[in-house]
Amino acid sequence: MYYIQKKLEISACHHLSLPYDSKCTALHGHNWIIYIYCKGEKLNKDGMLIDFIKIKELVSDKMDHRNLNEVFSFNPTAENIAKWIVDTVPKCYKARVIESENNEAVYEKTL
Ligand SMILES: [Zn+2]
Repeated sequence: MYYIQKKLEISACHHLSLPYDSKCTALHGHNWIIYIYCKGEKLNKDGMLIDFIKIKELVSDKMDHRNLNEVFSFNPTAENIAKWIVDTVPKCYKARVIESENNEAVYEKTL
């Protein structure tokens, strides 16, 4: 089995829709650190699981320096973003979305 890991740093803003009082309902920014994990038993003809550049295009180009509420139709929590990444990047089985030093969400699917 081949494994690759891609790290991205993304600056973006969002606000959360919550049914209780929270400062997160106001528009604010994060410098997200995102780890994307892919695995597969076969490489493509170029000897890659998936090109690292392709992963960056799929995630950074969509999210970086954007208002995530305008990008996504879902409530852009770290958990939902992690799930979106796993669903979007080919061969991705796990994503870690680190919102700040103390706050991190992980989504992992069983292949
Ligand atoms: Zn936030």
